[in-house]
Amino acid sequence: MLIMKFGGTSLATAAAIERVCAIVERARQRDPVVVVSAIGATTDQLAEAAASDLERGRAILADLRNATEATARALVSQADAAELAARVRAVFDDAAELLGRIGSSGREESAELDALLACGERISSEVTAFALRERGVAATLLDARKLFVTESKHGGADALFEVTGQRLSAAVPPVLAAGAVPVMGGFIASGDDGSATTLGRGGSDFTASLAGAALGAEEVQIWTDVDGVMTADPSLISSAQSLSVLSLLEASELAYFGGRVLHPATMLPAIEHGIPVRVLNSMRPDGRGTLIVKDPPESEQVVKSVVYKENITLIDIYSTRMLMAHGFLAKIFAIFERHGTSVDMVSTSEVSVSLTVDRSEKLSQILSDLGEFAQVKATPGKAIVCVVGERIRYTLGIAARVFQVLEGIHIRMISLGASRVNVGFVVDEDQLAAAVSRIHSAFFPELSQPPGASQQ
Ligand code: ADP
Ligand code: ASP
Ligand code: MG
Repeated sequence: MLIMKFGGTSLATAAAIERVCAIVERARQRDPVVVVSAIGATTDQLAEAAASDLERGRAILADLRNATEATARALVSQADAAELAARVRAVFDDAAELLGRIGSSGREESAELDALLACGERISSEVTAFALRERGVAATLLDARKLFVTESKHGGADALFEVTGQRLSAAVPPVLAAGAVPVMGGFIASGDDGSATTLGRGGSDFTASLAGAALGAEEVQIWTDVDGVMTADPSLISSAQSLSVLSLLEASELAYFGGRVLHPATMLPAIEHGIPVRVLNSMRPDGRGTLIVKDPPESEQVVKSVVYKENITLIDIYSTRMLMAHGFLAKIFAIFERHGTSVDMVSTSEVSVSLTVDRSEKLSQILSDLGEFAQVKATPGKAIVCVVGERIRYTLGIAARVFQVLEGIHIRMISLGASRVNVGFVVDEDQLAAAVSRIHSAFFPELSQPPGASQQ
């Protein structure tokens, strides 16, 4: 059995969905289980609708509905069109009703907001199942909300592995045994109290990995819009190249520090069960992609990739009372914990602590709580850059090389992760592109164009 997860860009148009269907069809002999993200940027649009005033929210939803209906119409024959249209309409009716409720009850993380975001995957899974059947591939839609169970927390919840595993094991094998392809939405789930929940933004990868682990799949495939995990984000560095193999640790660090191509929690469930994860390009399905395994054979390459994360806020906390005081850090972290905000990087001195966060919704409450016992300064507009590679820990001078090439770029904070497979630092957002580009050229000289090459 193969878990095949397709991201939003792989489903952005009717032609892209056709391509996805062809990829699934080709894998028929390997018992594919299909997991889909929402079509294109649907989730962003639903989130924007929820964050806007009601009138604007309704307009966003109407645009989304028109676009989705056009995509659906292009994929199915006249005979099925009415049925698919009715199903899509039913989900949009739910979305409109939820939007009304969110508008009057506030836009904080809630079951209503999760239920609204879930509409994206509810639609894409319906559309994909219809499109597969249109091609003659028997496909059965499974409602992921009934299979994936999480804690009852909103805005991104932890999955409850055991019960999810039991439900998947009961629901998926009979569909395969009947010769059909199970299709389910990623990202969406239900809390143990029955309310709508999600696995957090980008969480469809995690759905795929959980399914792979629970069902003992031979491989989890993450199909996206680039040739696998690359030496840098190709949208920033056009000469970036795809990596053939990555270790679990490298992939986890890379995802955590911004390699959007993978969700940070993706690899764990699958790889802990010995199931390889492969990242592939749905636009070029014959490429070899990137294989992620627990312990790949040692590679020559010390640095594998340079990744980044934007929209970072740096928080400096000063307190003279901290001098010699134990429990100070615990007090600080308790505040972040209370506000459900995770900290990416930390550095301390005798009288100060600096840290970074990438979610700012709770920032004003956090700052006010910290302000009760310390002086606090928050600076937005920062970015984290992180160089990742398993062999960094055995190789002298990597950090020195990194900082050498960054000469002239203001570096605000430095971290050599405890696992020692990464070197990370914080820069101003407007220096991000220069920092990534210089590091990429330094560590992948063979991939960077010699000056003037483009004029030849
Ligand atoms: P999907 O819709 O398939 O989930 P995402 O947009 O979440 O796709 O992730 C794919 C994107 O990740 C790529 O288009 C690329 O711009 C970005 N990316 C960032 N860092 C990397 C990296 N190191 N390797 C490959 N892609 C990366
Ligand atoms: N559709 C969700 C999102 O955009 C989940 C995913 O794409 O993985 O965050
Ligand atoms: Mg993604």
